[in-house]
Amino acid sequence: MDFDINTLPPCDVLILGAGLAGLCAARAALAAVPGAAVTVVAPWPGPTGSSFANRNGRLGLHVPADDAAREAFCREATALGRPGFVRPDLVAALADEAAARCRELEELGLSPRRDADGHPAGQPSCFSPHSRRAVILEDLPAAFDALHRRVTSLGGRFSPGLTALSLLRDPDGGRVRGALVEDYAGRRFVAPARETIAAMGGTAGLWLYNQAGRGGSGWGHGMLAEAGADMANTAFMQWMWMDSATRRFWPVWRLATGEAVLRDDAGRSVALPGDVRTAAAGREGHCPLGHGLADAALDRFVLDHADGLGIAAITEGEATFQAVLAAHAANGGAVIDATGATDVPGLFAAGECATGMHGANRLGGAMATACLVFGARAGRAAALRAKDAAVEAGDIRGLAASDARACRRDMRQRGEARRQVADALQRLGLPRRDADPEPLLARLESLEAAAVDAGAASLVAAALCFARGKACAPPVDSPAQAVTDAPCVSS
Ligand SMILES: Cc1cc2nc3c(=O)[nH]c(=O)nc-3n(C[C@H](O)[C@H](O)[C@H](O)COP(=O)(O)OP(=O)(O)OC[C@H]3O[C@@H](n4cnc5c(N)ncnc54)[C@H](O)[C@@H]3O)c2cc1C
Repeated sequence: MDFDINTLPPCDVLILGAGLAGLCAARAALAAVPGAAVTVVAPWPGPTGSSFANRNGRLGLHVPADDAAREAFCREATALGRPGFVRPDLVAALADEAAARCRELEELGLSPRRDADGHPAGQPSCFSPHSRRAVILEDLPAAFDALHRRVTSLGGRFSPGLTALSLLRDPDGGRVRGALVEDYAGRRFVAPARETIAAMGGTAGLWLYNQAGRGGSGWGHGMLAEAGADMANTAFMQWMWMDSATRRFWPVWRLATGEAVLRDDAGRSVALPGDVRTAAAGREGHCPLGHGLADAALDRFVLDHADGLGIAAITEGEATFQAVLAAHAANGGAVIDATGATDVPGLFAAGECATGMHGANRLGGAMATACLVFGARAGRAAALRAKDAAVEAGDIRGLAASDARACRRDMRQRGEARRQVADALQRLGLPRRDADPEPLLARLESLEAAAVDAGAASLVAAALCFARGKACAPPVDSPAQAVTDAPCVSS
């Protein structure tokens, strides 16, 4: 086999992804250990991901400001996470550190929206419509620039144009020693690191209809699972309805208020049954479908009348359009501890690559807060470990050379895998009534068996994380259960 792979300069902390989680991790790593060799790799140089390139152009952050707000946040977030896997200590960390992390953003000149008196304007959030604990961060490209400037001014190395393909791990449960990455021209490099932080965002971008920000591979979960990290909550996506043509969010509750009408195949209006209308009451309090919540009956009813891709015909006033249930963000990821470490030595995860602070559902704004809090925790812990621990040098080139897929590149296969995964997820992965996970698993497993390209393999592995999570998760209409410490682990 031809092994023609170059090696990047070794670093203490390698951060995969330049979204909010990745840049917060880099900043915290450099603050904790000045002079540490911290490298951030990302496919594109500018603002990317759902953090900095999201279609709304703003991010809500959940920032409880006092003890009462922190207590309410923990209670609501923990209850909402059911029946997923939630760790109360991780939820508490969000509540405790959100304000401090938000102040750090302000020190970079990133002020949340203010009220008339100049105070950060407290906003309601999805699933918590009566609270005023969220603040809104606008001008996301400016936020990217400010964080990027800070990371580079602290000595961090930003390496755009590189996409991570797989994590390189010693055999027999050993440590992760960095990653295999690829540049625009298809050249491959091994990126050696003492500690690696996965901050590549979630799986939403794999769906045919999705709202994920641009520039993501969508396969971070696949890389983590392939490296042996425990994954949980991977079936719990945030789903929202959008206009399939414009990709604009569409408020599905208008069906319940009578402002919109659902149409069947023949164009006839479909009346909402009384029990669905009753269950849908209060849906205006949150945009995403709520796993285990009564009002998901509305989404299921619309899906019952949608086509194979989840597209339903809607009339609003004079306008008729097609609404589709789109993947918005992932609540699942690698199971992390309070420092952001996964159960794999040398491997941390943050942002949409990590879970445990969210479960089946999450409070609006809690994901951006999780990027700040656990990005910072992971960066700090990784830098300190890299400094303190005597990590023996590993043969990272040997690891890459022994991985057959690391040495093969087949862009046609990668493109075809992306197309097939998008189709399979959209047709078989939506949270329909009585959805059987087996057909999706079977389609993805046949793609897995055929994957020779490392990107295709990680992509299919990411979709399998979702499908395997779905196979062991309670159905979308199951009621909330007790918080569990036993994750539905999918690796
Ligand atoms: C439209 C929209 C609005 C949202 N609004 C809110 C909100 O108001 N509040 C909230 O809390 N959450 C919100 N979310 C969710 C939230 O924005 C994301 O969950 C969060 O920003 C994810 O941050 P991240 O750093 O984990 O990933 P991302 O921001 O997605 O960044 C991932 C980074 O990894 C890079 N990357 C991907 N693959 C690879 C690879 N293979 N190798 C190297 N780099 C890679 C990407 O290019 C990018 O730089 C919203 C999501 C969407 C889509």
